[in-house]
Amino acid sequence: MDKGILIVLSAPSGCGKGTILAEVLKDEKFFYSVSATTRSPRPGETDGVNYHFLSKEQFEELISTGGMLEYAQYCDNYYGTPRDKVTEKLNEGRHVILEIEVQGAMQIREKCPDAVFVFIAPPSVGELRNRLVNRGTETIDVIEKRVSEAAHEISFAPKYDYVIVNDVLETAIDDFRSVIRAEELKAINQKNIIDEVLKNA
Ligand code: ADP
Ligand code: 5GP
Repeated sequence: MDKGILIVLSAPSGCGKGTILAEVLKDEKFFYSVSATTRSPRPGETDGVNYHFLSKEQFEELISTGGMLEYAQYCDNYYGTPRDKVTEKLNEGRHVILEIEVQGAMQIREKCPDAVFVFIAPPSVGELRNRLVNRGTETIDVIEKRVSEAAHEISFAPKYDYVIVNDVLETAIDDFRSVIRAEELKAINQKNIIDEVLKNA
């Protein structure tokens, strides 16, 4: 493959995106696009690693100068994908992962028809609430807001190409890798390999 695959990964907060990606990203063929956000860092989060943490003014400046590939407002904050690195890394042949919510994903659907859309769902909304409570990074009020947002977001799952239920973690990680492998093997992504096979025929 000359160019990498653009992978759009969505899941309501607490569905295990971070946990799954921590494993998947050990493989250097993947590149994680660091988003920008106006929300405050959680304990343990680092600027430039988890997110680029920006003020509302800085974020709006980036929107107005066309620096965002997509952006959305979610739970009273802005979240967006800075455009620059995405194209650069795809051209280097790496698979770029955008970890974004559904409004942003639908913007990418319009702009990048070749992207692959993966939705990660929890086994149930009750289990999602348990995981958020156990994670302990949000107050109960914020958790309830995120849980009700989650039910709405899950209704968008049929618009994605693949749905993975994160029940047993190892199975969900295997499922994600299988999806990407299948995409790599698509004929449209194998043109160079076919040319190579036919060389000197
Ligand atoms: P997200 O990045 O989608 O917000 P996290 O990766 O932080 O979600 O996962 C939310 C919580 O659920 C974390 O405490 C994580 O350890 C836990 N978790 C993730 N996947 C599973 C799973 N398959 N079974 C049980 N707990 C899980
Ligand atoms: P969190 O606050 O839990 O880190 O993220 C909240 C939601 O924002 C998650 O669903 C996450 O996927 C989404 N998100 C993170 N970065 C972006 C982004 O760049 N664009 C969009 N549209 N959503 C994002």
